[in-house]
Order: sequence, then C-alpha cells, then structure tokens
Amino acid sequence: MNITVVGTGYVGLVTGACIAEMGNTVYCVDVNRDKIENLKKGILPIYEPELDTIVVENHAAGRLQFTTSLKEAMAETDVYFIAVGTPPGEDGSADLRYVLDVAREIGSLMERPSVVINKSTVPVGTADKVRDTVRQQLEARGVDIEFDVVSNPEFLKEGAAVDDFMHPDRIIVGTDSARARQIMDELYAPFIRNHPRMMFMGVRDAEMTKYAANAMLATKISFMNEVASLCERLGVDVENVRLGIGSDQRIGFHFIYAGCGYGGSCFPKDVKALISIAHQNDFEPKLLQAVEARNDLQKHSLFNKVSAHFSGDLEGRTIAVWGLAFKPGTDDMREAPSVVLINSLINAGAKVRAFDPVAHETAPREFPEEWFTEKKLEIVDGQYEAAIDADALVLVTEWKPFRRPDFKALKKLLRTPVIVDGRNQYDPAQTQRAGFHYYGIGRMPTH
Ligand code: NAD
Repeated sequence: MNITVVGTGYVGLVTGACIAEMGNTVYCVDVNRDKIENLKKGILPIYEPELDTIVVENHAAGRLQFTTSLKEAMAETDVYFIAVGTPPGEDGSADLRYVLDVAREIGSLMERPSVVINKSTVPVGTADKVRDTVRQQLEARGVDIEFDVVSNPEFLKEGAAVDDFMHPDRIIVGTDSARARQIMDELYAPFIRNHPRMMFMGVRDAEMTKYAANAMLATKISFMNEVASLCERLGVDVENVRLGIGSDQRIGFHFIYAGCGYGGSCFPKDVKALISIAHQNDFEPKLLQAVEARNDLQKHSLFNKVSAHFSGDLEGRTIAVWGLAFKPGTDDMREAPSVVLINSLINAGAKVRAFDPVAHETAPREFPEEWFTEKKLEIVDGQYEAAIDADALVLVTEWKPFRRPDFKALKKLLRTPVIVDGRNQYDPAQTQRAGFHYYGIGRMPTH
C-alpha cells in the first residue's frame, strides 16, 4: 500500500515508520521544514526508544519518504493519516485548526477515491467536520470523488511508542464504510497476526473511546493522589495501601502510583477537552473537574514540601532536580510537573541545578533564557553533579538510574541531606539510616 501520514510528531512519525517497516511505502509530511530536512539526514525531532533505527533503515530502503509537500506525497497515495496536534484552546476545548487545515489541503488536491484516517485525538463529531471540509473543497473544484473518513485514535505511550504500535492492545476503527473497513483490515493485519485485535464501531464511538480512555487513566492517578494526601494527614504509608488495593484483581496495579501529578501532551489536554465537550452539551462533569483540580494541586506538592522543610525561606538556596521530562523514556516536556516545581523554586529565590538523561534539549525551551544566563537554572550533564552543594534533592521523573542511587556519595555532595521523592522510589527507613531527611508522597517524613 502507498500511504501518506500528515504530521511527523510523536504519533505521525511512529505511525509512518512502523507502517513502512511492514513493507508499505509511506510519505511523511510536515509543515516544519527543519524537521523534514533533519529527518532526511537521519536526525529525529524526538527521542523515542527504537525509533531512530526503523526510521533510518526504512528511509534508506526507500519505503519512508519525508516531504513538506502534501501535493508531492498525494501523487502516489490514496490512504491518508491525519496525525497533527490538537492542542487545548483558551477555553480548554481541542483546537481543530491543524486537523481542518489538513482536511482542506487533502480536498484541494485529491485526484482519486481515498480514505482519510484521523489519528489525532478529536472531539466527537470531528470526522463529520473533516468530511464536510474535504467535500467543500471538492465542490469548489467542481469534481466528485468518492472518499471515506475513518476515526482511528492512537493509544501509544510515549517512551514505548514503537513497541505499543507494533504490539497494540487493540486497534479502534470507527467507520460505517465496507471499503474503508477492508483497507484498515489490510493495513493493520501485520501488527495483529496472532491476536486479532481490531474493534470496529461507529465513528463517534471511536472518537469518544480515546477521550474516555485517557480520562479513566487520569482519574486513577488523581484518585490515588487524593488518597495519598489523606494518608499524609493520617500517618499512613500510601505505598502499603497501593500494594493492598492493587492485589484486588478488580482494581489491579496499573496506574495507581501516587506521585507529583500527571503531565504530558495527552492527559491534561484531553481531560480539559472532555470537560469542555461536556459543557458544550449542557452537562456538568463533576468527576472530571475534580480529577483536573486534584492534579493541579498535586503538581505543587513538591515545592510545598521543599518550602515547608526550609520554613518558607528558599532565598539563595540551591535545589537539585533529578528528572525533567514528564515521564521516563521520553524527552517530552509538555505540562511536566518539573516545570511547575522549577518555576516555583526560582520565583521563591532559589537556584535550581537539574539533570535529565534525555530532555536536556527540550527542557530549556520551557524556561526564560535569562534564568540560564543569570545561573538561576542550570541543566548539568550528570545526576551527581546536580547534587553538589545543593540544599535538597528532588526526584521528579523516575528514570532508572535514579532508582538506586549511591546514598553515601549523595550525602557527601549535598550541603544538607534532604530528599524529596516525588515518585516514592526510595525506602524511607533506608534513607533515614543513610542520614537523610526524607519526604515522599502520601507517606510520613523521616528525619
Ligand atoms: P506533535 O506536536 O508532536 O506533532 C504534530 C506535528 O504536526 C508537528 O510536527 C507539526 O509541525 C505538524 N503539523 C501541524 N500542522 C500541520 C499541517 N497542516 N500539515 C502538516 N503537518 C502539520 O503531536 P503528537 O504528540 O504527535 O500528537 C498528535 C495527535 O495525536 C494529537 O491529537 C494528540 O492528542 C494525539 N496523540 C498523541 C499521543 C502522544 O503520546 N503524543 C498519543 C496518542 C494520541
């Protein structure tokens, strides 16, 4: 099959590369010229495990092409994936401008019967808008070409995106067209040979499924963070509670970790968008509002713990931060809890010395340039370097090298032995024996 993927971000590039890996010819299109020029040279715009190899190999084999010209790509294909961003607008609703731009462009260039597959996360009813937009363009050109619009939301996780795409839990396809269904079956057959996992449903059902999935995951996190806050007030260790409830098969262990709040490009924006969808339909989404409110509070919890330890006096202190990306395995800094923490620390007069194994290029874009020139914020090359003469260490992202640190070395490097563990990675008793003041999430501090 010849396929065009529009948008070469986390979703588009992974989709294009994985589909090319199965022998298809794929054009990846993006409006960002630098991204496309770099991709042609084998330089990837994002960090994602295993992605560089399949991009470079498939490009070398001629199966994966990169271009800024949809027209060039369309000369060869009749199956289009839309994988552009749907960021939150000012009112929290999903901004569909990029999706509809692509629909307009497809309509203005389409020459033969086609399938337009939407992979971006979009509100219920967007497929209809895409269909109307393409049709208007065809009518303006005075041509009548048959086309289908399919909803095929993506469920990959950043940090494991290639593996998720290659071995999906399920593939959701919203369509009522037999022709589109056959194409989707053919397209995904290599990914589900041993476990047929295609789920066909209505277009609107598929669009809603994606939001419901992300809202459910965000709810589990906020639920556990709420329990954790209560545990802190009751002298209970939330880690024992987690183990206790997770062993109930109806609950399970996934996504019930207390922490410093969810971030990333999906959960915050999708919960906001679903709240906005509810309001547009005269419905008060009380649970979703609480999920979002709890998360906003949770993102401030690390700063509050650091500040409380120093009785609110952070002027002139240096705080070491381990982990900047919103989660391990990615360089994505969108809505990362580290941004809230670092902003609060610097606004309170502290200096920050941070280390992240991969986000050293994406992280600086999140902060004012003068913070770097004035040395209020330094991003250093090693985790122990960050701790030198710092007044406290805050663990924000649980990258593997942070999980079993050399506490003896840390104790020598830190000016005061304070650890704030935003992911409950350390044993409070062990850190106490090693001579630290320890603060976790949902557990009693030790001194
Ligand atoms: P991204 O911001 O990483 O990439 C979007 C890309 O689209 C950018 O490279 C941008 O230049 C390009 N683009 C914008 N307008 C364009 C146009 N008119 N023509 C060509 N290219 C254009 O976004 P992402 O994280 O890949 O997310 C894309 C969609 O997938 C969103 O709706 C998101 O909610 C959804 N999604 C994301 C994830 C994830 O983990 N990132 C997972 C599942 C679903």
